[in-house]
Amino acid sequence: MVFYQLTISLILKPSMPGEHMHGIVYHEDYNKYDLGMDHPLVGDKPKKTMEQLELKGLLKEFEVFKPRKVTQKDLERVHSKSYIEKIRTLSKTGGMLAKDTPAPKGIYEIARLSAGGSMLCAEKLLEGFKCMCNPLGGFHHASIGNSSGFCFFNDIATTIEYLRDTYNLKKFMVVDLDVHHGNGTQDIYLYDPTVLNLSFHQDGRTLYPGTGKIENIGKGEGKGFTVNLPFPPSTGTGSYLIAFNQIVPPLIKQFKPDIILFQSGVDTHHSDPLSDLDLTYQAFFYLANKMKELSEESCDKLLVLFGGGYNSDSSISCYYNTVCGLLDNQNYLREKDPMSHYKAEVVIEYVSRLKELLSVYWNFE
Ligand SMILES: [Zn+2]
Repeated sequence: MVFYQLTISLILKPSMPGEHMHGIVYHEDYNKYDLGMDHPLVGDKPKKTMEQLELKGLLKEFEVFKPRKVTQKDLERVHSKSYIEKIRTLSKTGGMLAKDTPAPKGIYEIARLSAGGSMLCAEKLLEGFKCMCNPLGGFHHASIGNSSGFCFFNDIATTIEYLRDTYNLKKFMVVDLDVHHGNGTQDIYLYDPTVLNLSFHQDGRTLYPGTGKIENIGKGEGKGFTVNLPFPPSTGTGSYLIAFNQIVPPLIKQFKPDIILFQSGVDTHHSDPLSDLDLTYQAFFYLANKMKELSEESCDKLLVLFGGGYNSDSSISCYYNTVCGLLDNQNYLREKDPMSHYKAEVVIEYVSRLKELLSVYWNFE
């Protein structure tokens, strides 16, 4: 019986690079992305995430790669020279990039390392890995020449432009589920029909950065390629998942991207000190699991950027559940009231308005 099972597992084992189909990038310097004692962005999150994956026996499912820093050229594909120089100068002494974003000494190097992690993930996907994770990625508030919201360089955009330039990829899907609107990514790609940029976020009237209205669906040739769905405070997991299932799968199926960049921020969890969407642990398993499925059915290249999460204990549990979803591992954490539909009526109304606005460009059946 044992022999029989072994034989089957050998036959079924796909031929992929090395032993793994999943990879993760990590560098000890990641933990220096620390914006100070009283700041919500705590530096040791990547280390704690890796420790949790090790403790739960999931790290062995991943090949671990050490990222390198992005170059000036990589940054210049997205950011203005003057902005890059501003970060470099601030980084020498330390200072403030924006009211909510202190720039600690050395941040120029660390932000380049974080963006390098996302870029390395993309390279590995093109070598045959099906899913790559960057625990310090998803800095979606950084725009061409300015930023706030704890972000310095937009690794989503630097990765997309690197892939376009170096590997000639044509179509990029961004699924940004962080609780904050991905305003930096939106500014960069507002006119660009090659990047289908979707952001689900807490309503801008109740949360930073205040943008991301349903009506904003892109401009010029990019019309129909920016998708924003705001959620009211206390949305709850059940209502959120209804919206996800109605909007995300049809878009991925019709757009047929070459790669999917999934900003899997967990600041939507009910314990997060900055926001109020009230999702449960189960949501992160389900969303990641569904994204894995959607990637497999389309381009089979899923780049997962762990994004925000500001409760230093529960965010690690949420990331763990995200990883369980990516691996289809049923040992994910559960908590009570997993499928609340607190704001179902409002969410359903927003979803139908969004579908109507997008109906010229996409089919939702
Ligand atoms: Zn966030």
